[in-house]
Amino acid sequence: MNQIIPFSKERMLSGDRVTGKLHLGHYAGSLHNRVKLQSRYDTLVMLADVQALTTHFDHPENISRHLREITLDYLAAGVDPNESTIFIQSMVPEIAELTVFFSMFVTVNSLRHNPTIKAESGNRSLGELYYGFLGYPVSQTSDIAFCKATVIPVGEDQLPHLELTRKLIRRFNELYRPVFPEPQAIISEMPRLVGTDGNAKMSKSLGNTIPLDCTEEELAFKIRKAVTDPARVHKDDPGHPEICPIFSYHQAFRSQEADKIQEACQMGSIGCTMCKRCLFKDLNLMLEPMRERRAMYTRRSDDIEDILKTGTRRAQELAKETLGEVREAMGLDYFNHNQVN
Ligand code: SF4
Repeated sequence: MNQIIPFSKERMLSGDRVTGKLHLGHYAGSLHNRVKLQSRYDTLVMLADVQALTTHFDHPENISRHLREITLDYLAAGVDPNESTIFIQSMVPEIAELTVFFSMFVTVNSLRHNPTIKAESGNRSLGELYYGFLGYPVSQTSDIAFCKATVIPVGEDQLPHLELTRKLIRRFNELYRPVFPEPQAIISEMPRLVGTDGNAKMSKSLGNTIPLDCTEEELAFKIRKAVTDPARVHKDDPGHPEICPIFSYHQAFRSQEADKIQEACQMGSIGCTMCKRCLFKDLNLMLEPMRERRAMYTRRSDDIEDILKTGTRRAQELAKETLGEVREAMGLDYFNHNQVN
């Protein structure tokens, strides 16, 4: 068994629902920030398998495959298991316990009107929403609180969740005793990525993603098939980069060149084929080291299991400590930290 290294710095928590492979949207949204900041903070990366059930409860059999795929995506993207603690949410039961405690003082109304929940629930009425789905922000609060994370790398769309977390943490601290720090967001400097079909969201369910594990050929195909400004018929027609997904990828991943591309597109001095070729070249360069790391970890699959076991044990230790404080603050530590002998 590997030795558990104690936490010593400020903590950063991030993670993903275990619903399938990660794509460039995840990378731009927060993954690149986690990699960049992992040595500055004690970094925890959570595989949110419980939260995957909020929308995939009827197919739990896929979760263990996705767990492995996402872990590989993390390691390939540069999450370093010596710097970051990668752990499995359902194996830290204290998170669920904390969710129950927080749920006592959150109103259904505040959950229903949370902008992210509103957007994701579409036109469904309260009567059609599942309790677990509605309570997603409470569960996220517990993810952040159990490890006393103070910084959370997020995309702009996650800010309403974090605001609710801050409110719940404040409420807990006022009601009982200050146990939790209020977390701050670290917003990605990359813009939110649109789908290759021009949809406002890059999403697996819409089939418009560029997966992090794509090969050179798949990347070329995805970029070739991506929509551009439909008004551009000839290559010297003036274009509208602001409505073109390819331009948004230039902005995210080739920020130095984006102004030049914008000008050339608007003046009709660059064709879409050339513009896509430039993007392909740079994205492929960015993905190449990820492919190498992925290949290395794929050959060492026992290492992945070790990384997950060690990370999860470390998170469990932390959770026990925090929940001890929580029970004490709430007056629920009846028999010496709830041990009955
Ligand atoms: S030139 Fe580039 S930015 Fe302009 S429409 Fe074509 S692909 Fe999009």
